[in-house]
Amino acid sequence: MVQHDIHTMQRNKGTFFVLGIDAATWTVITPNLSKLRNFKRLIEIGKSKTITLKEKPISASVWCGMFCGKTPEEHRHGSYAVNGEIVKREDIKVDFIWDVLAREGKKVKALNVPFVVPPYSFGVNFKPVGFGLPTDEREWQEELERVTERTKELLMEKPDLLISVYTLLDRIQHFHWGEDYVVEWYKRMDEKIGELIFDTGFLEEGERNKLIVISDHGFCSFGEAKVQTLPEHTKEGRLKGDHHENAFLVTVNVDYEIERPQDVFFAIKEEIE
Ligand SMILES: [Zn+2]
Repeated sequence: MVQHDIHTMQRNKGTFFVLGIDAATWTVITPNLSKLRNFKRLIEIGKSKTITLKEKPISASVWCGMFCGKTPEEHRHGSYAVNGEIVKREDIKVDFIWDVLAREGKKVKALNVPFVVPPYSFGVNFKPVGFGLPTDEREWQEELERVTERTKELLMEKPDLLISVYTLLDRIQHFHWGEDYVVEWYKRMDEKIGELIFDTGFLEEGERNKLIVISDHGFCSFGEAKVQTLPEHTKEGRLKGDHHENAFLVTVNVDYEIERPQDVFFAIKEEIE
């Protein structure tokens, strides 16, 4: 078989798109589905479930495991900073899915993946908003707009794999958990999901394209959380919410059964290799 044919065969497999929404939570989504029409549509089309984490619901660690396939004991990356030093990609001794697939000649893009700060991008030039820790309304909106626009452009390039992550809901829920304000931001997120998944026609190419929409953990009130991920009092104010072990998942056209964050790595590998 000539090189051209191999390439054509690979292209026919379509794009595997992983949309990460840090801290997206069923306890906000389910009761508000009448206001979240794109989440609703996605849930109707796809397979949805709650992933109950067996590991600690720490963003750095969960996103890391999701894209390297290793447990926290194996990847040993548990925090954005250790001994006052920011942990960098090079400090984490693993191969991520983008490293593995790029070596095999696949076209892979990753945008704003928050296993480190600032969030990591692969094959894409992207400057994260607010060092990946957007803190006020202006920065939240900016992240929402910029990640959406860049992701749309990348989808049009039809890569084999695209991973894009929004971080803003994590930040918003830490400060505003329990307020209607949180639902307002889910509505804004819902609009963007509509633009990315439905307006682009991404799911209209038969079963060629694959989709995972996933969070790294859920959310709950600060006092209810089993693991405290931040001090209650910060310079931005008192925290009202913290991470919960129940994460969000919807898949479309993905056969691999995802039970843990690490399974995302194996699902991608199985579909693309
Ligand atoms: Zn998180």
